[in-house]
Formats: sequence, structure tokens, C-alpha cells
Amino acid sequence: MNRDTRHNKAMDSTLGRPLSRQAARGSLPNRRRSAIARTALTYFSDLSPCTYFAGRHPVLLAVGWLQRDREYPVGNPGPHVYERLKEYQNRSWQPGVFLGGHVCDLCTYEGFYSHKNIVVPGRDVTYVAPEGIVHYVGCHQYLPPLEFSKALVSAPPAGSPEYFAVLHANGWSPAVARASVVDPKWRRRFQVEAILKARGEAIAANIEAFRETHGALPAEVADAVDLVEDVPWQLKAEGSEYRLTACSTIDGVRVSRSPGRRMWSSSYDAA
Ligand SMILES: [Zn+2]
Repeated sequence: MNRDTRHNKAMDSTLGRPLSRQAARGSLPNRRRSAIARTALTYFSDLSPCTYFAGRHPVLLAVGWLQRDREYPVGNPGPHVYERLKEYQNRSWQPGVFLGGHVCDLCTYEGFYSHKNIVVPGRDVTYVAPEGIVHYVGCHQYLPPLEFSKALVSAPPAGSPEYFAVLHANGWSPAVARASVVDPKWRRRFQVEAILKARGEAIAANIEAFRETHGALPAEVADAVDLVEDVPWQLKAEGSEYRLTACSTIDGVRVSRSPGRRMWSSSYDAA
């Protein structure tokens, strides 16, 4: 496996206080930007005990707590590791200690904003990574320790009963490491929120396409949305998984989300 190290120039010390969500998204005046750029994630070297969550609980080993002025291994852990990181980013149990959000200070401009953690049970150990590890692997070529990647790939699905069983076997109290129960009304709200945001992203992309084509913003949202015909989506069960397909006959484009690996594929009619 390709494993070497990269060293980045030392920077000034951090401000040492958590960022607000607004600050992290970079919507503050330029005067504040230099300060934001220097605000870093709490640093732990890989596989060192993560004191962030110190207490009466089993030791958590830190993975992926990167900082601009520290060396880190670079390489490609492979698509399976990346896909599982994304799964864990969405469904990992949270240890319940929240000390504010962080913005990636390896990025040149807008840093990835991170506020959750990824907890991965291993063999007799438990690893904790900031959710920014997904961004570090995807955008900054960070190579997590091999033992972590192996544990991640073989761990049960994040948030499943089997996942919690392994955490309990690793010494976590069932009273601490347990699935959070979300009120059904709020679960529905979160789902609707996610769908609205996804549709909003698609509409925003259409508005940008309209602007590129016409040199001006559309007068109404409908003018931009009309760029794409409203195609029906097909849902087809395949075992316990499903395939999702849409086909634009006018433009000759078909997209399909495969079961299992949940990857998107596209095909096009002859132009
Ligand atoms: Zn970054």
C-alpha cells in the first residue's frame, strides 16, 4: 500500500475556541477570515488515546484528527473504506460529548465543517474519528491506519443492534452506548427536510444551467426547472435492496441507483 507522509508549513497557533456554524461556513467579513483559517480541529496523533471523551468509559483511540501543521500519512485506502466512512458518518453512535464544530484547516479556502464523530468498534478497542475524516480521505489524500480501515470494513452496519453489541463487548455500558430513539414525528420531519434539501440542490443546479444558457437568472423557478422534464422514477425491489431508475426520453438520459453498493450509473442514447 502506498504510504508516505506529507508535511505542511507550520502555522500560527489556534484560537482555541469552537467555531459557530456561521463562521465555519465562511459567511463572515474578510477581516475574520484569517482568524478562521487558523482555527483547527483538536489534534490527536493516530491511535493515541482520545482524551476528548475522557471519563469512566473505555479508551477511545483517535483516528483522523488532522491539523495543518502536523504530518499525516497519505494514500488511498480504497473505495470500500470510503463508502463505509460515509455510512458511519450518517449513522454512527455519538458518544454524547459535544465541544463545538470544527472547520478543516487543510483546505485553501472554504473548509469542510464538521461537528459529529464516527465511532468504530474494533477488536477489543474502539476508534473515534471526527466526521471530517470523510473529507480528509476524499479531498486531502489522508490514509487512515490500516488496523482502523480493517475494523471499519468488517464492522457491523453503523447503528445496528450488532454494532451496539460489539461496543458493549468492548466495555461500553448499554446505558451509554445505545440507539437514540427519535420521535416518529421528528423522524418524518428530518426525512422531509432531507428530501427538500436534495430537491433544492437540484433546482439550484438548474438555475445555474439556465443562467449559463441565457446569461441571466430565470424570472421564476419554473423557468429553470423546465430545463428538465419531470420524469417518473421507478422503484424496483431486488431482495432486501432496491433499484431506483429515471429516464429522460427527450434528452436520452437514464440514471440508475444500484442496490447493494448504492452507486449511480448513467447511460445515454446515441446523440
Ligand atoms: Zn479540507
